Amino acid sequence: MEKRLYNFAAGPSAIPEEVLKKAQAEMLCYPGAGCGVMEMSHRSAAFGKIRDGAEESLRRLMDIPDDYAVLFLQGGASMQFSMVPMNLAARGQKTAYIVSGHFAKKAFEEAGRWGEAVCAASSEGDGFSFIPELEPGAVPPDAAYLHITGNNTIFGTCFSELPDTGGVPLAADWSSAILGRRIDVRRHALIYAGAQKNLGPAGLTLVIVRKDAVRQDIDPVVPTMLRYAPQIKADSMYNTPPCWSIYMAGLMFEWVEAQGGVAEMERRNLEKAALLYGTIDSSKLFENRVPARDRSVTNVVFTLPTAELTEKFAAACAEAGIINIKGHRLTGGFRASIYNGVGLEAVRALAGLMERFEKEEGR
Ligand SMILES: *Cc1c(COP(=O)(O)O)cnc(C)c1O
Repeated sequence: MEKRLYNFAAGPSAIPEEVLKKAQAEMLCYPGAGCGVMEMSHRSAAFGKIRDGAEESLRRLMDIPDDYAVLFLQGGASMQFSMVPMNLAARGQKTAYIVSGHFAKKAFEEAGRWGEAVCAASSEGDGFSFIPELEPGAVPPDAAYLHITGNNTIFGTCFSELPDTGGVPLAADWSSAILGRRIDVRRHALIYAGAQKNLGPAGLTLVIVRKDAVRQDIDPVVPTMLRYAPQIKADSMYNTPPCWSIYMAGLMFEWVEAQGGVAEMERRNLEKAALLYGTIDSSKLFENRVPARDRSVTNVVFTLPTAELTEKFAAACAEAGIINIKGHRLTGGFRASIYNGVGLEAVRALAGLMERFEKEEGR
């Protein structure tokens, strides 16, 4: 087999080898089913167990209360940019958004198609380099919800604490930090996440929603497939769900549980992040401008002072077997995504390379 390299991809991203190996072992024939997971009916007993097992594991991991539904949907986090307003707000109703990054802005714009989306705070003027604070009164009290992007994958920023919504329900896109740090579900009306960052392969979108937050008198114009209620009623099987991705997410959940749960993932991620930020902060070459409080523990962004050094370091990474570390096209520079599937040894390899590079460049 070809060698697996140090993979810092932002999404789809690294999956723990144990998880991939289990999937490999079961790929041709899932125990007792006589066929693989990709080949079985989503209505079969075997798949029912896989689905229910995944949900139960996630409920344990995130301590999800019974009055919240767990949905396994498709369409990506981007589909939720539209589904959240259509299911939580009346047509034309106010919603509030903290615009802290590229995806936050997209979510805000989609909400504007449905109702009156209010920008409660924004850091766009500063290139989304920090998490903006809410000024008093910024969230209209009659807003259906306040939406945040918990972790800004492209800009490497993260809410270290949830904002004070003033009693307005909180809806959050936690795509790139879910299961990577502790998140208090009870403080949210809704959480969503595309799976391909921290939960497994692409194709699955996780939604955790307090059932009484879902509008029952939903506007008749909303297509059935874009409503939460039918999916809640059908245990995410209103139509064929993304079976393989649910299975893989279930394996990831099992793996996280076996490692010690979300608290242990958070501890490891803080350790990995501290190693990289420490290297950056003690360097005269590498730079990260995010205020310490807002620094993401899952996406560490950094730059070099010149295009020449940037190219040189990119080549050094390739040489050292470090892949998928280029920054997003909007930001340039570098981004090390250090999700649950990325081990400490990969981060040590990167930090070591940065230190050697710095010495070689004579700083
Ligand atoms: C990746 C990402 C998205 C977009 O996800 P898709 O599944 O591609 O729609 C949205 N929000 C955040 C925070 C992300 O990291």
